[in-house]
Amino acid sequence: MHTDLVAGLVVALDIGGTKIAGALVGGDGRLLVRAQRPTPAREDGETVMRAVEEVLAELSLSPLWAGAQAVGIGSAGPVDAVEGTVSPVNVPGWRGFPLVDRVSRVVGGRPVTLVGDGVAMTAAEHWQGAARGYENALCLVVSTGVGGGLVLGGQVHPGPTGNAGHIGHVSVDLDGDPCACGGRGCVERIASGPHIARRALENGWLPGPDGDTSAAAVAASARAGDPVAVASFERAAQALAAAIAATATLVEIDIAVVGGGVAGAGDILFAPLRRSLATYATLSFVRHLKVTPALTATNAGLLGAAAAAFPHPPHKEASYGVA
Ligand SMILES: [Zn+2]
Repeated sequence: MHTDLVAGLVVALDIGGTKIAGALVGGDGRLLVRAQRPTPAREDGETVMRAVEEVLAELSLSPLWAGAQAVGIGSAGPVDAVEGTVSPVNVPGWRGFPLVDRVSRVVGGRPVTLVGDGVAMTAAEHWQGAARGYENALCLVVSTGVGGGLVLGGQVHPGPTGNAGHIGHVSVDLDGDPCACGGRGCVERIASGPHIARRALENGWLPGPDGDTSAAAVAASARAGDPVAVASFERAAQALAAAIAATATLVEIDIAVVGGGVAGAGDILFAPLRRSLATYATLSFVRHLKVTPALTATNAGLLGAAAAAFPHPPHKEASYGVA
């Protein structure tokens, strides 16, 4: 074990509605030790916290633990990085839960940094993935919900409370359907996996003999040429394209990176997405915009939490991940 690797070591926590993952992550982005628990999402807040403590306790058994300098947390949102609290939509036991304070108590005075999961995924893609080397990027997670984050001027831009880039709740349909957030016509209401499936079913798409009504099943039908399934993905792609074009027009980005389970549909999503983008991204400074699949996949949450934890914010490629 090189000493410089241990010197860059941080504790990363990735907290979602289904699992709580933890890792000791080296300065080169390697996940050296891992621990995981299911999220007891329907339980009270203390029970959920106990699962986090179990993950940390398991990591602390590693001889590497003593060398970890800082802790980074990427959590399902909304988060409040100023207050150090989280209120994940899918974990009702946590509303304004003081996660930073509670984690601080068990990590022995190490600094704890909290970001939303969209920002964490963005940090991961900028460090190790498809946004690497880009000064300005938008990263999206299209899955059960739609999240995202921004890289501006070579730095991940979490915003004051850690939620910047939350593209899923940008409205792209002024008189559209009410969204769970209280808004109307949000990207998430049109482009998330559950809504791709819902729209297909409403328009007469029939699942196969296994009864699978997931977005992945709709994607499989689309690949086989089912026009209703194709149309549902085209509508999702249109919503994503409008929001990506709006973001590019506002802050000038060079690349949009799309990850999450729905991005696994591949060209079923990306082909109409690129076509739609040509409709909405029309001004000279956004026309060159690239759209590409994310690369960090299932490790994005942990890598991003680790990137957020670095004691000295990485500065461009000089220290942003030592390859
Ligand atoms: Zn919304």
